[in-house]
Amino acid sequence: MSKAEKTAIVTGAGRGIGRAIAISLHKQGYNVVIGYAGNDEAAEETKRLCKDNDIEGEVVTVKGDVSKEDTAMRLLEAALNMNGRVDVIVNNAGITKDNLLARMDEEDFERVVDVNLKGAFLLSKAALRPMMKQRFGRIINISSVVGVHGNAGQANYSASKAGLIGMTKSIAKEIAARNITANAIAPGMIETDMTDVLSDKVKAEINASIPAKRMGTPEDIANAVLFLADEKSSYITGQVLSVDGGMGM
Ligand code: NAD
Repeated sequence: MSKAEKTAIVTGAGRGIGRAIAISLHKQGYNVVIGYAGNDEAAEETKRLCKDNDIEGEVVTVKGDVSKEDTAMRLLEAALNMNGRVDVIVNNAGITKDNLLARMDEEDFERVVDVNLKGAFLLSKAALRPMMKQRFGRIINISSVVGVHGNAGQANYSASKAGLIGMTKSIAKEIAARNITANAIAPGMIETDMTDVLSDKVKAEINASIPAKRMGTPEDIANAVLFLADEKSSYITGQVLSVDGGMGM
């Protein structure tokens, strides 16, 4: 099957890593559903950037909070409306609400886990039936280097990202025999709005500690998504692909 007949859903695609993933998938000829939380302009900009490449295939935007089941259903419906398929889902939407454990509110713990982990659960569950029916699927969860190694001040975020890895492996075991793979990507420090809040001094210290001596780009993560989404990656499942310039070694 040519990729032009395939459809991908990317959550949190209004900016940052999600935007780069949406653009890269569309460049490869996928129809793309751009999931976004609330910024209509940003989502439209992602759509425009996809369309700039003048590639055949549709691009639609769907607004909604990934921690709500209704959003997962609407994302899925948008994909199925394009060509009756959902080939790739990229659970990318994520938030941080950092604090040291002693000062972390229960509310901030729950919200981070709800968005980062439950959101991925809801969309993966929704996409499972069509993926099983078409006997093809790629579930790609954007975890983090801190989900593997932990990070002071990020007990909630690390728990959600480590949870994503455990969930990815469990899903992979359930569906491996059906030609559906589930993998996680663990980005290191990537240049986006999420990391832009760090001071230049902290960024310089981080860069010095990364073997590659630079932060990653959203495109570095998008390239890993393209690799895992490819039909040729059918024997790779339940893995955590670190894309971190060697940070986690
Ligand atoms: P970002 O903040 O620029 O983008 C996150 C996107 O998720 C935003 O568009 C936001 O609107 C969306 N989002 C947030 N809450 C949502 C919700 N409830 N429903 C729907 N969408 C929601 O961050 P980014 O750096 O592009 O990060 C993308 C993913 O990569 C996140 O899961 C993040 O945890 C992960 N990650 C990022 C880095 C990094 O260094 N930037 C490192 C490791 C992992």
